[in-house]
Amino acid sequence: MKIHEYQAKKLFKDYGISVPESVLCEKKEDISSLIKNFKVPCVIKAQVHSGARGKAGGVKIASDLHSAINIAENILGMELISKQAGAKKVNKILIEEAVDINKELYLSLTFDRKNEKIVLILSNEGGMDIEETANKSPEKIYTQILDNNFNVIETVKKLGFHESINTKIVNIIKNLYTLAIEKDALLVEINPLVITKQDDVIALDAKINFDDNALFRHEDILLLKDEKEENPYELQAQKDGLNYIKLDGTIGCMVNGAGLAMATMDVIRLAGKNAANFLDVGGGASSEKIEKAFKLLISDKNLEAVFINIFGGILRCDFLAEGVKNAIQNLNINVPVVVRMEGTNKDLGADILNHSGLKFTVVNNLNEAIEVIKKI
Ligand code: ADP
Ligand code: MG
Repeated sequence: MKIHEYQAKKLFKDYGISVPESVLCEKKEDISSLIKNFKVPCVIKAQVHSGARGKAGGVKIASDLHSAINIAENILGMELISKQAGAKKVNKILIEEAVDINKELYLSLTFDRKNEKIVLILSNEGGMDIEETANKSPEKIYTQILDNNFNVIETVKKLGFHESINTKIVNIIKNLYTLAIEKDALLVEINPLVITKQDDVIALDAKINFDDNALFRHEDILLLKDEKEENPYELQAQKDGLNYIKLDGTIGCMVNGAGLAMATMDVIRLAGKNAANFLDVGGGASSEKIEKAFKLLISDKNLEAVFINIFGGILRCDFLAEGVKNAIQNLNINVPVVVRMEGTNKDLGADILNHSGLKFTVVNNLNEAIEVIKKI
């Protein structure tokens, strides 16, 4: 789960990491009074779940009151198109004190899955072009795997600052590590972490991604979820207990088991098409769940066809057929539905579909499925 910069900065503050002063604004009519009671110069920052906002025109500095109000009015409500997240409407802005930057660093903690440990990533080439540094000068990026009693001073020294700054950076890393562990974060990133002209070390940006599988023990974090930022299809799937990821293709697929779902996407590709989604309804899906999954699939406007590929084990094929039949009867569906079922009660399932009076193409195997999908 992702959160906004202003929410991540609040957490940073709770964990003793310095952030600039700021105030959040969600309504156009509040802009002028909030800025008048704040200070200039200030920076107006679009709050959307995306990086690279600066390059997309979502982060702007204002030197006086008049331009601050102007910029804020332009950014709040704008459609921000970033390289990382595509188009996003800006529903909130952060009005933040402008910091006197001397140097922009990059600092993050993420997971090293091979070592099953948190890894520190540090560079003094921070800021908006960190991706370019990573590609062109990887030697300027320092990493260290963090063990329980880690000591990061040697890595921090590589940045080349004097001792008092090093101490501040080491403390930030310690605090960030505590935050990551206590809140089950998968990524905590500060880009840029800045050294100011007064030698303070401040987090100017803040990004945290949390482990969805650990959210059940973090009610405080769950409260930070901004549903407007989530993909509406994926949000619905979460509510229905489905494993669903929206993709860019046109063939909706419904499958049980993640491995089979991946293989099904390959099959669709072999037929010269692309999957519109990844959807694993799981082993023991009820016919209601199947109906919900089907509704979700067909709500996708790009859909050309639906391919249902189920291995009937715990989920019996007749259950599946009932669920799909009910969904189609209740909904107005005008795309072809191709069904491949294998396993428990396969014939019963095929009978239900074939005698439903509805239009299904029931195929016997994956090769047949490919041929049918090719012609769609
Ligand atoms: P993004 O990474 O989404 O582009 P950032 O918050 O990192 O957004 O802002 C982009 C750039 O804007 C930063 O690298 C920094 O140079 C500048 N910036 C951001 N916040 C401030 C601030 N409070 N004061 C001065 N400059 C800032
Ligand atoms: Mg940034």
